[in-house]
Amino acid sequence: MIDRRQVMAGAAALAGAGAAALAAAARAQTAAQAPPDEVIVLGAGLAGLNAALLLEEAGARVRVLEGRGRVGGRVRSLTDLPGSPEAGGSIVGSGYARFLDRARRLGVVVEPARPRPDMAGAMGISLLGQTIRAEHWPGHAANPFSDPRLKALPPYAVGAAALRALSPFQSLDDWRSPGMAAQDVSVADLLGARGWTPDQLRLGFGINPGYGNSAHDVSVLMHWHIAENLKVMTAQPGAAALHVKGGNMGLPVAMARALKGPLLLGQVVRRVESDATGVTVITEDGRRHRARHLVCTLPTSALRLVDFAPALPPLQQLAVDSIDYNRTCLAYFAVDRPFWEGDGLPPALWTDTLAGRLLLTGDPDAPPTLLAYVNGFAADRLDRMEPAAAIAAVQADIARLRPAAQGAIRPLRLVSWQRDPFAGGAYVSWKPGQIRAGLVAAFDQPIGRLVFAGEHTAQLARGMEGALESGERAAVQVMERM
Ligand SMILES: Cc1cc2nc3c(=O)[nH]c(=O)nc-3n(C[C@H](O)[C@H](O)[C@H](O)COP(=O)(O)OP(=O)(O)OC[C@H]3O[C@@H](n4cnc5c(N)ncnc54)[C@H](O)[C@@H]3O)c2cc1C
Repeated sequence: MIDRRQVMAGAAALAGAGAAALAAAARAQTAAQAPPDEVIVLGAGLAGLNAALLLEEAGARVRVLEGRGRVGGRVRSLTDLPGSPEAGGSIVGSGYARFLDRARRLGVVVEPARPRPDMAGAMGISLLGQTIRAEHWPGHAANPFSDPRLKALPPYAVGAAALRALSPFQSLDDWRSPGMAAQDVSVADLLGARGWTPDQLRLGFGINPGYGNSAHDVSVLMHWHIAENLKVMTAQPGAAALHVKGGNMGLPVAMARALKGPLLLGQVVRRVESDATGVTVITEDGRRHRARHLVCTLPTSALRLVDFAPALPPLQQLAVDSIDYNRTCLAYFAVDRPFWEGDGLPPALWTDTLAGRLLLTGDPDAPPTLLAYVNGFAADRLDRMEPAAAIAAVQADIARLRPAAQGAIRPLRLVSWQRDPFAGGAYVSWKPGQIRAGLVAAFDQPIGRLVFAGEHTAQLARGMEGALESGERAAVQVMERM
């Protein structure tokens, strides 16, 4: 049996140091030596770890299989960069009950996320080759709105604010209510009918989109659910923005340490076979793992690379084939000189180029790391380049927009969630019609001995809390069958 402390030492190394050795150790363990487990959990992100812990707490023998050389999945803190910036799940709210409870029980410190002092001041805007100070935006010729309430809002806030004002939602489950299904249309359909022009739609939803890529490929119901989720997740007393002291990875690492059963890293699942008595999971290295039940927390993009025998039912296969994730590519730079003092603009800049949104990130007591947070089709463009070329392209764009940054920044790291075969994107983005078609509920119920979880299967919360919620639901469903 692979030594648990060895596994977690590898997990704590975050970037996968030691992973190859751990994977080799895992391979050395033959299936014959292992007693049959009651439950196999696929994926050691928040959903999988929560399901595994809850099942162990209920007395089950659980084995967790994780493809990467680290735990945490889409929670990843870059502890080797200045200020340990987050590359994945960043902020939790006071309403993240499961996250906060799990952290408290494991002694993981969650604290208010302090803003960086060098990020004070409103974000500047760079649009169509012009750099515009926030205070000039409402009266600027490039501002396409005539309604004074929309004209006053910065481009990065106008879309969400306009949709929020139209939301009929009053609770976290409204987005799945059959009574709302008729409104599962695109943002372009809803706002276009209210007179929004293509220019306005592009500005509000097509540049650095937090969800989807444009006003045409995201559901209004999802946007309303996001607004409702934000309201609920920040409604409790306390700071609205919280994070784990030292990096959010601290929580999944502590959860993995708390497991009693084996957590095997480097186990890339390729095939899942179910029969009357159990489930066999076959990994890329040919190992076979057998248990009575399976909890699968892989994102749909990763599930597409797994064979199921028997095949998934048509609705679930459609869900796997078509549920997609927000395109996100993050470029991190060391800052050798505070270039924003040279051009008099705020360091934060919202751009319509490959530089995406420019922010200073990391612990406020540490030197700043410059982050270009790139979404949508701009992320697609970067993803078509080799990582070194992509980060060089972002750097060239920053220098073009802000000549003072020339020679002041150095590339550190490029993280593309879309290119990552274990993720395929950042977080789920529901397209128009998918909710109405029932894809949102495709994994509500077990399929034989298979129970699906993961952020994309969450019924109420989103993001990290949604992942934990889904793991909890999956654990209960397995317990009911044990
Ligand atoms: C850039 C970014 C910013 C975000 N910001 C926030 C935020 O501020 N607040 C918030 O609440 N949420 C945020 N999120 C979302 C949040 O991080 C995710 O929703 C959540 O972590 C998903 O957890 P999960 O367990 O469902 O999936 P994952 O974390 O993806 O876990 C799935 C696991 O399965 C593994 N896996 C995949 N394929 C295989 C395979 N074939 N074999 C074995 N293992 C496999 C993966 O390696 C992974 O560890 C953000 C995400 C990103 C990427």
